[in-house]
Amino acid sequence: MSIRKYIRSRFFPHIWCPGCGHGTVLNGLLRAMDALNINKNNVVMVSGIGCSSRISGYVDFHTLHTLHGRALAFATGVKLSRPELRLIVPMGDGDALAIGGNHFIHAARRNIDITAIVMNNRVYGMTGGQYSPLSGEGVTATTAPLGSIDRGFDVAALAQAAGATFVARSTTYHVKELSKVLMQAIEHKGFSVVEVLSQCPTYFGRKNKQGDAVAMMEGYKAGTTPVGSKAKQENPALIERGVFVQREAPEYCDEYGKVIEKAKAKAQARAKA
Ligand code: SF4
Repeated sequence: MSIRKYIRSRFFPHIWCPGCGHGTVLNGLLRAMDALNINKNNVVMVSGIGCSSRISGYVDFHTLHTLHGRALAFATGVKLSRPELRLIVPMGDGDALAIGGNHFIHAARRNIDITAIVMNNRVYGMTGGQYSPLSGEGVTATTAPLGSIDRGFDVAALAQAAGATFVARSTTYHVKELSKVLMQAIEHKGFSVVEVLSQCPTYFGRKNKQGDAVAMMEGYKAGTTPVGSKAKQENPALIERGVFVQREAPEYCDEYGKVIEKAKAKAQARAKA
């Protein structure tokens, strides 16, 4: 299979539990890269900590496995020093929007050309099933045995409000759609965010009586609908999938390059004076 060229097979078998959605996200991402015929030597993947962040170990790109919540900060540094490279940052919901929330909103505000993938399983899987900022009210977790009273973020709405110029959502059930929106996000010049509803049967599914991985994916099928559909108007509880925003705006590295040119011109003028 052609996507094998993007995989570090020496690190398999992977650490994910049977039925974890993150393998499907990895598959969708690699198929998107292959469809775009992207040279792996031009890709840098930066991840923080968590089950989702393990993706960076399995792909044969340039990879950095960094601190919890800090992946976007590291990726920003890489991108500013080598703007010609493609930066991809896979994150879990806790990594992206709890400890990493500040980096998330500022990367979006700057419109730096990075693709952020937020794998939303509504729980901290790697550390034992604690509730996350995306768990939502009423969710049971090891740190909320009687149900969380915190409201969850809407990742897509938050990304748009913070200034991201490409925002989309898909699920591990909708595999072809997932690959397609990842392709669009990777091709987009600017900060692109793809939220993927990705099941954690081990902690979220078991604690919240959602059944096995298949049942959880069936839940994504029944509980989501394309953006702007009639079904959403009839049932506001449905979660929308698809592309929410795709627009052009000045990109951060380009703007920073202009500042460098201005500084050089000023220095040259001073030297001549
Ligand atoms: S704990 Fe959950 S998120 Fe982590 S590997 Fe297992 S199923 Fe996946």
